Amino acid sequence: MTSLDDLPLRDDLRGRTPYGAPQKSVPVALNVNENTHPIPEDVAIDIVGRIARAIPGVNRYPDREFTGLRNALADYLGHGITSDQIWAANGSNEVLQHVLQAFGGPGRALLGFAPTYSMYPLLAAGTGTGWIAADRDADFEITPSTAAAAIREHDPDIVFLCSPNNPTGTPLSLDTISAAYDAASGVVVVDEAYAEFAPAGTPSALTLLEGRPRLLVSRTMSKAFAFAGVRLGYLAADPAVTDALRLVRLPYHLSALTQAAAEGALAHSAEMLAMVDEIRIQRDRIVAELTTLGYEAYRSSANFVLFGGVDDPGAVFEELLGQGILIRDVGIPHTLRVTAGTEAETSAFLAAIAVLAPVAR
Ligand code: PMP
Repeated sequence: MTSLDDLPLRDDLRGRTPYGAPQKSVPVALNVNENTHPIPEDVAIDIVGRIARAIPGVNRYPDREFTGLRNALADYLGHGITSDQIWAANGSNEVLQHVLQAFGGPGRALLGFAPTYSMYPLLAAGTGTGWIAADRDADFEITPSTAAAAIREHDPDIVFLCSPNNPTGTPLSLDTISAAYDAASGVVVVDEAYAEFAPAGTPSALTLLEGRPRLLVSRTMSKAFAFAGVRLGYLAADPAVTDALRLVRLPYHLSALTQAAAEGALAHSAEMLAMVDEIRIQRDRIVAELTTLGYEAYRSSANFVLFGGVDDPGAVFEELLGQGILIRDVGIPHTLRVTAGTEAETSAFLAAIAVLAPVAR
């Protein structure tokens, strides 16, 4: 049998493992921070109608500039953002890959603050960009001075700031983001994949875009919009940045069906986001109940919670899986991460983990 070693693979990809969160069919899947609420039926019907209307035209390539979708995304974001500031791709993973293709590459470096989203080093590897993992402060926080010091020390071409951070849930203050921007000579991306789950009134990095042409704010429809299966991520930045990203995208990268579906969801954004409040309630409930059980639940502005105080994460993971509950071992010692699901899913997780709890404090 041919193995990878037998292939003329790029040297810098040898020995690497692909992204691989388990995809298992279980009753309670709380492992990849999806929105576990299904699409409301009336929205689904509207989306099907839009796709049906797009189908006869798929003999032609789709609108390469995804004009209607860019307008809808700009409207959704608000803050005076215009459609020439919007970029989109098949998931924010692809958006981030475009950023690395345009601004990274061989001889260049991407800096992130670990532990952070596990795809960042993989996206760096795939584009031949160096990866620098800077440290966080206690409890995974990042002060303005910590961010600025690491960026000044390494002077990376690209900085990824994940806020709220996956897998820890930690939000970053606007002070930390602007300090990072001021310290950086390259582009600074704030990955706001989970922004809609932050406490109401939390300001977005979108409010910092004005006058900061190297600042990019990426978002996704995969989480709050419950649209992970469609694959639609986007970013807002100076129009010159979107021009730079056009240099690396594949022609017609967003299919006509993706554009139709995403425009349909955005036309119903209030209804699509109605579940966000309920998910926040479940997240706060997880933090409170895990703390009562004696675990150390970290503060989270996202739709998941990282909790420490787990003696043997592998054993707890397997025990829960045996009961049909899939959560995530993200490789941080003595911790596990769980997505806030529906009330019933969250109750199932909390009931199962209560039996395995360390000594209650
Ligand atoms: N950024 C972060 C922080 C994420 O957690 C994820 C998904 N887990 C993504 C980006 C990518 O999401 P998508 O490609 O579905 O938009």
